[in-house]
Amino acid sequence: TETIDTEADRFARTLEQGMDQFEKIESRGGKAISGADAFRLHDTFGFPLELTRELAAERGVEVDEEGFRSEMAGQRERSRHAVTHGWALAKDIPTSEFTGYQELTSETRVAGIRRSGEGVDSAVEGDVVDVFLERTPFYAESGGQVGDTGIITTPSGRFRVEDTQKPSEGAFAHLGTVITGEVRVGEKATAAVDDKRRRQVMRHHSATHLLHKALRETLGERVVQKGSWVGPDHTTFDIPLNRAISKDELHRINRRVMEKVREALPFHESQKPYKDAVAQGAMHLFEEKYGDIVRVVCFGDWTCELCGGTHVRNTADIGTAVIVSESSIGSGLRRIDMVVGESADELVARDRDLLSEMARSFNAGPEAIPERIRALRAELKEKERELARVRDQLQTARVGGGDGFVVKHGRVDYVAQSVEASNIDELKAYADRYLERVKSGVVTLVAGDKFVIKVSNDLVSQFDATRLKDLFGTGGGRPQLVSGKLTVPAQEAFRRLEEALA
Ligand SMILES: [Zn+2]
Repeated sequence: TETIDTEADRFARTLEQGMDQFEKIESRGGKAISGADAFRLHDTFGFPLELTRELAAERGVEVDEEGFRSEMAGQRERSRHAVTHGWALAKDIPTSEFTGYQELTSETRVAGIRRSGEGVDSAVEGDVVDVFLERTPFYAESGGQVGDTGIITTPSGRFRVEDTQKPSEGAFAHLGTVITGEVRVGEKATAAVDDKRRRQVMRHHSATHLLHKALRETLGERVVQKGSWVGPDHTTFDIPLNRAISKDELHRINRRVMEKVREALPFHESQKPYKDAVAQGAMHLFEEKYGDIVRVVCFGDWTCELCGGTHVRNTADIGTAVIVSESSIGSGLRRIDMVVGESADELVARDRDLLSEMARSFNAGPEAIPERIRALRAELKEKERELARVRDQLQTARVGGGDGFVVKHGRVDYVAQSVEASNIDELKAYADRYLERVKSGVVTLVAGDKFVIKVSNDLVSQFDATRLKDLFGTGGGRPQLVSGKLTVPAQEAFRRLEEALA
């Protein structure tokens, strides 16, 4: 039909414009396509990152994918703020039944669509809107756990969920873009969470429960969760502590978490009055406001917490858990960064690759690397000392050999000479050698655009080096020794000196 032709034409035209744009970027001749450029290709011309990567590879150019992702995150942040603003003004936001504790795909119905804070009946391909459903398996960002992503399919269209947020109690806003056709209020829909990503989020979130308990066992009961962020590829966990956690403690904590993973502790949950839950010792956040009835989440009988997040069925599902770092985030708080599941396996594989690469370049087994590095550093230090000794001998030999060494006689004896020196310290060392030979006098040396003036102690009251320096250029020091940068040619500086000392 005519509509489809126009759609196809429009698509082809956009792609063509995108190719033009790509050629323009590529012709600038950089070594990499910047994150901003890759993002513009994606955002304006619909180029998936894979396409940009492929085109770039054909031309032997790389793509700054990290930069691309940070541009994406930036845009998501901007759109979230814009949308949140819209929500603040909105009335009658539909609420949803949350099915995401039990299932990752739910049959449902479109309960509402909002565009820039305004309720609308439908949205078409390319529209950026918030979709509301009667029931949804999409977890909305809260308690530090990121919102779900995925796809909502209706008989007439498909909607890509890029984030899920809670504009008000019980309301789930699916933020995203209509990718094909049209989505209409009242239509039946299948809501499917990106399950690979969500499973990784659940692993990370569940692991924080084990981490929380292991931290309290190791560091004491006063260690309570102060904050946490949970995403698909890592999680952070903040605790109050006025010191660093030692390497030994971190090992113990990590080992304890892994023990509990291997015990395959089953997940179970219950609803009970807040007071009962706390009386039974369920961990909770003091700052958090809880309702009268709370959800208590336990793994075996080892750890129970008040929690609204999503969890694995038993702790063995978490897989590998690796504490990556602990650091200060100020005001008596420490942050622990942990990676679990697939992400942990990838991390371990990456680290092993790095280690064998190092082992290869040291031509030694991995366990020998620390000793090799220590030996290399000691060797380097020894070489530096040796080099300094040789340089010293060379200077002494040059000066002592009288090679170009001329003492001029004016009101006092003085030396005005260009020498070869690679830095100011070397130049000063030369000045020392010359003054040793002159004994009483003024030594001025120039190397490149640098100069040094050294005055023997007996003459400092007559010839202050800090004043003589004005004949040479700019610099600083003491009456006995000044170094600086020439502002006139060396010959001109020496001529001025001769006049001054004549
Ligand atoms: Zn939880």
